[in-house]
Amino acid sequence: TPSFQSICCVGAGYVGGPTAAVIAFQNPQIRVTVVDKDPSRIRKWMSKHPPIHEPGLRDVLRVARDGTRATTVSTDQGPDSIVSLPERLPNLFFSTDVEKCISEADLIFLSVNTPTKLSGIGAGAATDLFAVELATQTIAEAARPGAVIVEKSTVPCRTAKRIRDILDLYRPGVSFEILSNPEFLAEGTAIKDLLNPDRILIGSSQTSEGLAAAQALKNVYATWVDPAKILTVNIWSSELTKLAANAMLAQRISSINSISAVCERTGANVDEVARCIGLDSRLGSKFLKAGLGFGGSCFKKDILSLIYLSRSLGLDEVGDYWQQVITMNEFQRSRFVSRVVCDLNGTLVGKKVAILGYAFKKNTSDTRESPAIDVVKQLLADRPAEVAIFDPRCNPSDIKEELQRLFAATGLQLLKPDGPIEVYNNPYDACNNASATLILTEWDQFRYPALRRTESVFETARSERAQAKSLSPHGGLSPHGGLVRTMSELDIATLRHHMLSTKTLVSDYESEGADPLDRY
Ligand code: NAD
Repeated sequence: TPSFQSICCVGAGYVGGPTAAVIAFQNPQIRVTVVDKDPSRIRKWMSKHPPIHEPGLRDVLRVARDGTRATTVSTDQGPDSIVSLPERLPNLFFSTDVEKCISEADLIFLSVNTPTKLSGIGAGAATDLFAVELATQTIAEAARPGAVIVEKSTVPCRTAKRIRDILDLYRPGVSFEILSNPEFLAEGTAIKDLLNPDRILIGSSQTSEGLAAAQALKNVYATWVDPAKILTVNIWSSELTKLAANAMLAQRISSINSISAVCERTGANVDEVARCIGLDSRLGSKFLKAGLGFGGSCFKKDILSLIYLSRSLGLDEVGDYWQQVITMNEFQRSRFVSRVVCDLNGTLVGKKVAILGYAFKKNTSDTRESPAIDVVKQLLADRPAEVAIFDPRCNPSDIKEELQRLFAATGLQLLKPDGPIEVYNNPYDACNNASATLILTEWDQFRYPALRRTESVFETARSERAQAKSLSPHGGLSPHGGLVRTMSELDIATLRHHMLSTKTLVSDYESEGADPLDRY
């Protein structure tokens, strides 16, 4: 079994960066280099401000990328508990010199983007393997003979065969082992998931060379993961497992959302239904929260990839089955926007609508395929005077840039002063004078203790006879003391004839010291 000394991770994104950082953190003896063709991304990874926000990421970087000095610490176990921590040299590096770093590695992770194809055959469904192809060509040309190549990106089943064909074409006669090692981390909890994974999946060919390469990769993970959690399977099972896992996670969200629509028309409470369903040990309680539906860069594209794969295998019924998960997700969003417009007397003209939360979920700054984008798009059709956006982690200028890019084809004047959209760096200005406040990301800042504070604000505002509503599919603010958790509860919790009073909110927080709604 080979043992790896030098790892190169191609792609410094949401997966490549954190995964390489944790592998380096847990394997001080291995040199880990992350490469990307995007110099600004690499620059950020080398700076104090990594390009992505993940809880715990900075701590891991501080040790693996920056190294530590020898220190002596005393624990609280008494005078004999003085511990000396040795000096640790940096073993995590970032670079734009893709070829050079690949040529120095004996294990190469392919962690490049695999989006949905936008044009040509399979547009809107098939996986675009352009980045995988290009990176594989570079690997073929630059890698050491015998280097092991690992698919970390999520790819359609049988992509390893394509990778092998490219390697054979560009580097005939040289053998490279290919492994599949899909990543199951969730954004927002990436470091926690990487440090304590449910399982590590390694797919390989079943030859002795393939099995030896799988064992060597297993050894890298076994420095911190229980070997019983490291599964070795055939390579096609590994590739398909990742698509199937994401499709089934998204399916649960669409399933509970479909039930939430029934709840709203019957008086059943979807939270109660979800809790009672989840207690069945065959089903489990996770991923059963009704809301705006799934967003993010993965679920939709991976289901689309599974649908395309199924249909291209002549399995149209399988494709149709998974298509319904996406249809339900879209239905939930448009249902929510219709609800907002309906509650505002069927028109948004002359009204300000505030949006709290723009990232696709809490604890990340990632906005790819965020439900908020769809909601903004649908709101704009009703010509509001202002759509006011605030997110605790997304940079206002990044949000503006993204919206302008996404709406460029419409030719609409988007941003204030000529257009309706304004992005704020605090929630108070965003909500001030809004006719409705939509909480679209379940950031904790928008729940407790903001809840208690705003209740008194609503009381004050009521006497001012102003108009506002707070609508949230996740967890909004209710004047009745409960969180607005689901759409089915909106009926009772929708705030009519109240206004968020900016002044009261701010002074309330100032007297407490810290402001939980503040950017940090
Ligand atoms: P990303 O877009 O954030 O990062 C990909 C990076 O690869 C980019 O920085 C890009 O510049 C770089 N890249 C592309 N081609 C390159 C090349 N030839 N040479 C050097 N660099 C190159 O994508 P991501 O979110 O990190 O996802 C990567 C893969 O992991 C995808 O297949 C995705 O489906 C999968 N995945 C993502 C998540 C997630 O939560 N984001 C979770 C599990 C799996």
